[in-house]
Amino acid sequence: MANDNTLRATARVTLANPAGMLERLCDHFVSHGTVTRRTGGARLDGAFGAVELKVGSRALSIVVASPDESRLFVVKSSVAEHLAEFAEGESFTLSWHGDAAGETRIPYFREVVVRRARDITPAMRRVTLACDDPGHFATGGLHVRVLIPPRGRVPIWPSAGPDSRVIWPEGEDTLAKRTYTIRAIDQARGELDIDVVLHDESPGSIWAREAKAGDRVGLLGPGGGDVIPADWYLLCGDETALPAIARIAGNLPSSARASIVIEVADASEQQKIASDAAIEVTWLHRDGAPAGSTNLLPQAVRGISLPDQGKPFVFAGCEQAAARAIRKHLRAEKQLPKDRHLVAAYWRRGHADVHDHGD
Ligand SMILES: Cc1cc2nc3c(=O)[nH]c(=O)nc-3n(C[C@H](O)[C@H](O)[C@H](O)COP(=O)(O)OP(=O)(O)OC[C@H]3O[C@@H](n4cnc5c(N)ncnc54)[C@H](O)[C@@H]3O)c2cc1C
Repeated sequence: MANDNTLRATARVTLANPAGMLERLCDHFVSHGTVTRRTGGARLDGAFGAVELKVGSRALSIVVASPDESRLFVVKSSVAEHLAEFAEGESFTLSWHGDAAGETRIPYFREVVVRRARDITPAMRRVTLACDDPGHFATGGLHVRVLIPPRGRVPIWPSAGPDSRVIWPEGEDTLAKRTYTIRAIDQARGELDIDVVLHDESPGSIWAREAKAGDRVGLLGPGGGDVIPADWYLLCGDETALPAIARIAGNLPSSARASIVIEVADASEQQKIASDAAIEVTWLHRDGAPAGSTNLLPQAVRGISLPDQGKPFVFAGCEQAAARAIRKHLRAEKQLPKDRHLVAAYWRRGHADVHDHGD
């Protein structure tokens, strides 16, 4: 099933209809990964690991295998969530054995402490966080879920139950959760930078505006996967994706070429984009129009030709309507294969905390 470094966990869940549960799990998983049917069972292979399911007379046996602790936790937790959803009120006990059994810590959670905060443009504030192991955030994706505790309360962080489902603090201890990009990692100083758009009296904006040395905050992640190697990149987005675009550009090799298109309020929001690659940066200004109300980004993307030679990769992060228009254009007009673009809705006008990554 897996190589020697693989972590494994097992569970046996007593159910009235284990065969029915197997069917529901397989039907659901088919749109997330590969389902291989076997006599009396199935194997599910996904990005985070593999799950072997075997049906007994009154029980479903589960074996999970993943390459590391974080991914093992994600798979165990996801299996538990789906069992609970598909059991439709039938009570069952799920208790994992094997690697990380009994662990109440979420392996990809870190408590970090604000070291300082400063405005880098009129509407963008950089919050620098002290972190014991910044290397944890270096691979596996650019963004994190920032868990913001209620003002004036000692934070209660999420933990893992015996079935690996996440237990969230409730009531007065409820955490606000917002997604932000790790703009920069300074391993030597043990620091992470997060650049936050100040747009409203919203939880994320208030947190960044009021952040002061010593404030505690939780991070879950990183997530979103690493940037796909390519010869030519199109990196585009509004100011919410500026931190991601700047970080991607900063890590490109000198052999790469990139067209960068960024929509901001006006010239005062422009930032220097540093890269070893050959980059061409275009700034689009809303000039008084509200964020998320213009067609500037999709229009600009339509005007860009993909190169005939070499492998392209397109990254876009912006308001949901613009993200949809860009994704549609890349797929329908440019015929760009799915693995050659990542177009994500970073926020949705009129809705709080949209966590929609499109594909
Ligand atoms: C993968 C990913 C990475 C992201 N990285 C960053 C990042 O590095 N920096 C960053 O600032 N944002 C980033 N975002 C976007 C950020 O998560 C959203 O903007 C989020 O809604 C901000 O939370 P909030 O508490 O300020 O507003 P919310 O409480 O979520 O929303 C309140 C209201 O404000 C509106 N709103 C939300 N964002 C904006 C905006 N930017 N401009 C105008 N109106 C807005 C909403 O539509 C809603 O009506 C990222 C999002 C994703 C999915």
